[in-house]
Order: sequence, then structure tokens, then C-alpha cells
Amino acid sequence: MVIAQRWKHFQSKMLEFDLQAVLVTHRPNIHYLSGFTGTSGFLLITPEKVFLFTDFRYLEQAQNQSPSFEVVKIEGGMNYQKAVNVLTKEGISSLAVEEDYLSVKAYKQLKKAGEWLTFTSADNLIEKLRATKEKKEIDNISRAAQIADQAFKEVLPLLRPGIRELDFACELEYSLRKNGSEGIPFEIIVASGHRSALPHGVASQKAIGDNELVTVDFGAVCGGYCSDTTRTMVVGKPDQKQKQIFELVLQAQELAQENLESGIEVVRVDAQVRSFFQQHGFGDNFGHGLGHGIGLEVHERPSLSPRGQGTLEEGMVFTVEPGLYFRGWGGVRIEDLIVLRASGPESLTKSPKVLELN
Ligand code: ZN
Ligand code: ZN
Repeated sequence: MVIAQRWKHFQSKMLEFDLQAVLVTHRPNIHYLSGFTGTSGFLLITPEKVFLFTDFRYLEQAQNQSPSFEVVKIEGGMNYQKAVNVLTKEGISSLAVEEDYLSVKAYKQLKKAGEWLTFTSADNLIEKLRATKEKKEIDNISRAAQIADQAFKEVLPLLRPGIRELDFACELEYSLRKNGSEGIPFEIIVASGHRSALPHGVASQKAIGDNELVTVDFGAVCGGYCSDTTRTMVVGKPDQKQKQIFELVLQAQELAQENLESGIEVVRVDAQVRSFFQQHGFGDNFGHGLGHGIGLEVHERPSLSPRGQGTLEEGMVFTVEPGLYFRGWGGVRIEDLIVLRASGPESLTKSPKVLELN
């Protein structure tokens, strides 16, 4: 039911933007519009009709997951001839494609199959719709965040001097799975000591040392929807600088959360945190965006960054993850998942934010 509302809504947007047909090849977009989760296939959507093209392996699944779509069997994953035949039959000469995701090879095949077609951009129309979540989607993300909280709590006693980053990541992954995660949305980051200065320092062979900062960035998946959390701790006794930086990052996160309201420009939320760090002399140490939307993908709209576009709206789910990084010393990042409700922002992440691990 919900799925049908999505593609019908998308069809109305197509009319608004004067799109005659859209070829959907990006898997999360296929999943979102049709419910189909197979790893091979694509959609063709016109203002009146919806088609799902897939191969023999996924025919039954496609019919079950996408009952309102006309399922067409194709040979091989990138065979566009039948889709082009549909366009011919429907008298459509202009096809919108997802420029960010269509490979050059696929584009060449399409051009060969339909020499007379003109190609336009789908202009991230589906991604824009995905930015605002329905209740069911928020429930899934919320559940994924709960699983992540629980899994982290269970393995935290293992975070002790001497354990290798990889071993801790492995335990956490196992715990995430045991607690019901369908997989891991991204490789778990465990970055200790000087490595914590690497914002995306995937777990290494390094053993965690006494009194070192450790950044752990992890997530769970529920109903196809992801969560994303970061905590930074000191295994042992934190020193003055570790305490100072941790407090500053925490304050930055609180500052950001005070500004989260529907209608605010995403760039403004990011800029406020950026200038807060600048005022403290750490303007150069916050080199990434403040946050990102999350859903079927770990990184999606809205982007809370200097390059972000648009405003925050009710129903959006995104991270708020300020961080400060110092080469050779280490770094601190704290990341929570926020849903913007009518009543204001609500954090879906409940893991405590405590610097000193006892
Ligand atoms: Zn993260
Ligand atoms: Zn993140």
C-alpha cells in the first residue's frame, strides 16, 4: 500500500517536471519505488505505467514484492532492448536517467538500443522524495538505532587496553547481528590513539593502548534501513586536552541540536557549528560535514554541510556528528541519529556519551 503511494507520487512529480519516462537503475531507488530488493534489474516508469525488468533468478521475487508492476523477464542485468521496445510502443522519445548511477557501458547499450532517444536527467527526483521519511521508515531506522545501542552496550566491557581494533570491531559486528541487525551498513570504524585523527579510520591490527582515545563508528540495518552512531572514549584516564576537546565536541553537538527545526537551511545548521569551532581556534580541525540523511543508504539527503541544499523538514532523519581531528594526536567525534518531528528534534541514539571508560 505504502509502496503504491510512493510510485504514484513519483508519477505526479514526473508530470510536474515534464518527464516522459524514467529509467531507475540505482538499487535503493528501485527498492524505494517498487519494494523489489533483488540485486539485478531496473524500473521503467512512465506517467501511466510501471515496469520492472529482471532476469530469471528474480522473477518470482519481483512478482511478490512488486505486485503492481508489470514484471518483464530479460536476459542479463543490463539488457535494455525490451525497455526501449516499451518506449517505442508508448510513443516516448525522451528518457530520463539517473546520471549519478548509470554506467558508461549501460548508457552506450541504451543508446544502441534506442538511437532515436534523447536522454535527460532524472535530477535526483527520487532521492529528494526519499529525504522525508514515512512513519514505517522512521520505525525501521529507530529499531536499527536501538539494536546498535544494545550491541554496543554488550561489547563495551571488551574495550580494554591490549585488544586489537579489528578484534573489537569483530565482536561488535557479531553483537549487532545477534541483536537482530540484517547486516552492517558500513565497515565498522575503530580508530585508537593517533589513528583517531582519521575520520574514517577503518579498524586495523593496532592494539588499543592505555589512556588512548578510541573512536567507534557503527550501525545496524533493520527492514533495509540503516543507523549510524559514533562514540569516542578514553580507555583509562583522560588528560586535560582529551577532556577539553571532548567537551567542545559535545557542546557543538548540543548547539546544533538547539537549531534543528523545520524550515532551517541545512547550510546554516552546519555553519553555526563551524563558527563555534572557529571561535575556539579549531576551525581547521573540523574537515567534514556536520551530518547526513540516512535511510536505505547510509549517506543520503539532506546533507548538513557547506555544500548542502535545501531546508530541514519534518520527517527527515539525519545524523549530527561534529568532530575535531589533530594529526599525530587523535580526534573526537560524537554522532547521534536525529528524527525531526512536529514537536522538534528527537534523538534515536541512546548510547551514553561518556569520555572515561570504567
Ligand atoms: Zn557514522
Ligand atoms: Zn555518519
